[in-house]
Amino acid sequence: MERLNVAGVSVDPRHFIGGQRIASPDTFSDHSPIDGSLLGQISRGGPEEVELAVDAARQAFPAWAKTARRERARILHRIADLVEERLEDLAIVETTDNGALLRSHRLGVMPRVAHNFRFFADWAVNELHHDPFETRGHTNKVSWDPAGVTALITPWNAPLMLATWKVAPALAAGDTVILKPAEWSPLTASLLCDIAEEAGLPAGVLNVVQGLGEEAGAALIRHPGISRISFTGSVPTAKIVARAAAENLTPCSFELGGKSPTLIFDDADLDLAVELAVEQYDNAGQVCLSGTRLLVQKSIAPQFVEKFKERAAKIRQGDPRNLETQMGPQIHQDHFNKIKGFVDRARSEGSDISFGGVQNEALGGLYFQPTLILEPTAGSEIVTAEIFGPVLTLQTFDSDEEAINMANATEFGLAAIVVSGNRSRAERVAAQLVAGTIWINCFFIRDLRAPFGGSKNSGIGREGGTWSFDFYADVKNTVLAPNGWKE
Ligand code: NAD
Repeated sequence: MERLNVAGVSVDPRHFIGGQRIASPDTFSDHSPIDGSLLGQISRGGPEEVELAVDAARQAFPAWAKTARRERARILHRIADLVEERLEDLAIVETTDNGALLRSHRLGVMPRVAHNFRFFADWAVNELHHDPFETRGHTNKVSWDPAGVTALITPWNAPLMLATWKVAPALAAGDTVILKPAEWSPLTASLLCDIAEEAGLPAGVLNVVQGLGEEAGAALIRHPGISRISFTGSVPTAKIVARAAAENLTPCSFELGGKSPTLIFDDADLDLAVELAVEQYDNAGQVCLSGTRLLVQKSIAPQFVEKFKERAAKIRQGDPRNLETQMGPQIHQDHFNKIKGFVDRARSEGSDISFGGVQNEALGGLYFQPTLILEPTAGSEIVTAEIFGPVLTLQTFDSDEEAINMANATEFGLAAIVVSGNRSRAERVAAQLVAGTIWINCFFIRDLRAPFGGSKNSGIGREGGTWSFDFYADVKNTVLAPNGWKE
């Protein structure tokens, strides 16, 4: 199988197992959402390739687990350096593969990929310690021991960023890794393997099995040789993963979907509120954290809607490789149809589609216009289900209590955004919201020292800082008695 040429960058379409490129007899097609063009055929793994990868990762584990944290950190820093050196290649390949903005990949996402490696490498060296403490003269010593082979399953909306958010702490913890990227965006995971190899990561420490969820993914999650499963994706898939993991009692970490609220209070800076609302269209709405339910205090709703409409009309939709573009396409046709289906049903139920709601005709293809749905029917799917597209709903409230109740009336709990000019009011509201992250007068500020994850159906566990290591490591307590020593 030949390497692909994707936007001038050479990408290996095969798996990366035990430091070798391995092809499968079967392949799947990878298309660009930008224009539907075929990018190439990718190796389509299944149980056999998973078996090879688990073998390779298990063989590599003892030596990697024994490698000093400092040495592991040195290699992870080298990976980060190479990510920075190859930033342009990574950015253009990711954009071509998943349709997210080239500008964001260059300026935000790929630098963040490098940071993921540096941060977790340094955290393991400098922060992953617990001071010994005494119990009736006995000394407790807590350690984070490498756990084994970690299976990582990731989605397409921020492929390399989300994958490395798992790969980096797992490797820093001393685990070996098998990554199964989403079949809609398999390419940058392959480039990461080139980089890892060049950085001197020993063979078998990082493995990538390409393939479909129900084939490669399903084989991976049920394999008894796996010690941890970290999954980012949708709730229905998480339930399949949880069922398979139950068979071997494999610990799971889940980062799942959302239907986050953006609460806009009557004392908010209206321009700021409008800007924050527009940000919820980021990545063409394909962001788990998006505050897609705009909850606006009734007294300011008319002004807000007017300003928001004006502002949203200026969003430049188009080819994500163009640096002026602010919104690109949806990932694939089924996803586009799913979004369209939600909006069509809301329309036929009598909801007011204030703007958008259809394909961008000038662009065609997978470009769905930014959409606002006013006063949707309470409890209808448009306000309860995750749409994962550029579709916001707007509901109004009278009191803070009503706003909090509406915000929490969801099966999800990933994030919430509060916009208010009154700090104590905002903090009082935030304290009553059920979600893993609350942003007050801001959005998307993310620090790897902070816990990240979802409440309710938005996930199980937290990632970031020591929370990541608590999952990827075997946390152990050793108790030393004060006596019985011969020296
Ligand atoms: P998905 O659940 O369809 O797929 C996610 C991954 O699971 C893919 O790699 C897929 O191949 C794999 N998979 C599918 N079926 C499988 C099976 N039977 N066994 C094992 N693996 C299987 O999700 P998606 O459409 O790729 O991503 C969108 C979802 O991800 C949204 O719900 C979004 O909110 C969520 N997400 C969450 C976060 C977060 O941090 N909370 C971040 C990004 C995306």
